[in-house]
Amino acid sequence: MNVDALSEWIGEKAAPEPLIAVQAFADSHESEDEAEKLPDPATARQWLVSIGLAAPTIELEDAGLAELLELRRCLRALIDANATGEQDEAANAKLAAAAAAHPVPVRIAADGGVAIDLDPAGSVDALIAQLIGVVLRAQIDGTWGRLKICAADTCRWAFYDSSKNRGGHWCSMELCGNREKNRAYRSRRSAAK
Ligand SMILES: [Zn+2]
Repeated sequence: MNVDALSEWIGEKAAPEPLIAVQAFADSHESEDEAEKLPDPATARQWLVSIGLAAPTIELEDAGLAELLELRRCLRALIDANATGEQDEAANAKLAAAAAAHPVPVRIAADGGVAIDLDPAGSVDALIAQLIGVVLRAQIDGTWGRLKICAADTCRWAFYDSSKNRGGHWCSMELCGNREKNRAYRSRRSAAK
């Protein structure tokens, strides 16, 4: 992965390495402020290579893109559960199947250190395996629970909550917090009429 390119794109509330790879992948979907980054194989391929998640040699066809979009849906559901506490069992079952079909690639260094191989993926299968491996590592190192989906319905951006009490709800207090508060205020006002 290209951490500089990932950090620059995510901006504030970026997750630490390597979790930032899963955050960026989850945030590749269409939102109020961002276009879909994986709309078709050619565009998706270009984007994945540009942020260092995939190697320039990767081949991406319709079937591979469909697999990636399915993985993204499942990962977003898993991230959402960090804030809501509600697990999407169907999504987790699909994730389990993807994990079984894509063993996490590990690298053993000369000094005996074992690490997930995070070189830009040369295939869709390798990318899926890596992203699942990153979730595993983040769950072990304790960073996973801080990755959340913004509570603003119009946003739903995956952000990293580094606050002391882990109580963050929005990716940006100024933008999303205010949007939500204004909406709640308006609906209270109309309910009071
Ligand atoms: Zn937001």
